Amino acid sequence: METVTRVLCTTSEISLKGGNRRWFERTLTENVRRALSDLPVERIERPAWRVLISFTEPVPFLEAARRLATVFGLGAVMAIEYAGATVDDLESLLGPRLKEMEAESFAIRCIRSDKHFPMTSPEVERRIGTFVQEHKEWPVNLGNPDITIHVLVDEKGISTWTRRVPGPGGLPVGVGGRASCLISGGIDSPVAAYQMMKRGMRLDFVHFHSVPRTDPASIEKVEDLVRILVRYQGPARLAMTPLLPIQEEIAARCPAEVRVLLYRRFMIRLSEAIARRFKSDALVTGESLGQVASQTIQNLRSVESVATMPVLRPLIGLDKPEIINLARRMGSYETSILPHFDCCSFLLPDRPATRSTAAELDRAEAGLDVENLVTQALDGTEIRRIEEPIPWDEIPLPEGAHQ
Ligand code: ATP
Ligand code: MG
Repeated sequence: METVTRVLCTTSEISLKGGNRRWFERTLTENVRRALSDLPVERIERPAWRVLISFTEPVPFLEAARRLATVFGLGAVMAIEYAGATVDDLESLLGPRLKEMEAESFAIRCIRSDKHFPMTSPEVERRIGTFVQEHKEWPVNLGNPDITIHVLVDEKGISTWTRRVPGPGGLPVGVGGRASCLISGGIDSPVAAYQMMKRGMRLDFVHFHSVPRTDPASIEKVEDLVRILVRYQGPARLAMTPLLPIQEEIAARCPAEVRVLLYRRFMIRLSEAIARRFKSDALVTGESLGQVASQTIQNLRSVESVATMPVLRPLIGLDKPEIINLARRMGSYETSILPHFDCCSFLLPDRPATRSTAAELDRAEAGLDVENLVTQALDGTEIRRIEEPIPWDEIPLPEGAHQ
């Protein structure tokens, strides 16, 4: 397996955020350090909008790439090879490499961060371009080359790379504020969490269970999903809240066709109370427009009318296959499809309402002691801190990486 002692990453959007640059960069570096904590990192540096990682001994490139693909804010990950101090050294390294390489066309790209180096970047590019053409009959194609030989000239000397795997993009976790994500055992909510982390949010989680009517194993499944997400952001809190007494009250006193919507209103009220404790500024759900009866725009509105925080729904415009694709890429799909009983999958009406109004739901729950039900559910809430992420080999390799 290909090993490396240096890895260079580009940053995705960080250069856009002028004023906050130092904070963004510091957060990104901390997140890189956390992701690589089990590899022998010697140093992490940040030359000009990039992150350069040196290892004390060779590590498999794919293992480094797998870890770095969980660090939002990274644009691409490159295995770089140190050639030496001079362009002659670079040619000595490239000569034997070129023999093994096949390509339709090529380009040389040089980045020079050591301004004392005697050649400019275009000079290095021309010199190495000529060298390549002495060995290969490849035509130069600057617009869309089949292969690009990258050269980095910094204080340490000259490095080169051709391999590049995509990073996850987005913004570093920690720069986008805090939210609490309503997480079920399904496919959608872990993906919703992933999408918000990708925009720099740090998340905590709230799960509603109906134990003993549902299997306590479903709580463990949610914990497993949070363990996957913890790979992308570091430790998180998971609140587990009993919904069963509320569901039984609603089933006994409220019209059947709006039951699910009333469960959801309680989920919002309870999540907000927990989110305040977690110092969150928003809720996150995995809802997608029209996916089920409770997710029509009228129902989303009538349920959300009890919310005071923004309810973020990053999947609102995605189709199920798109969501499944994301779930596979981030590594939650296999866990999500394990069988479980959702708290909403019993006490269900035959024909749920698809066009409710807030006033109608207010009337339907007029006979409930909302405050008391909320207090009791909060009293029964257990909060766990999820520190230990799933093993790295259960996180998929980044797209485009191959052995
Ligand atoms: P998912 O795949 O995330 O379960 P879903 O398509 O099954 O979503 P619903 O069951 O209608 O859709 O749930 C919509 C959203 O409500 C979920 O994405 C999640 O954010 C929240 N939610 C549903 N059930 C629970 C639960 N038991 N605990 C916490 N949040 C829940
Ligand atoms: Mg569900």
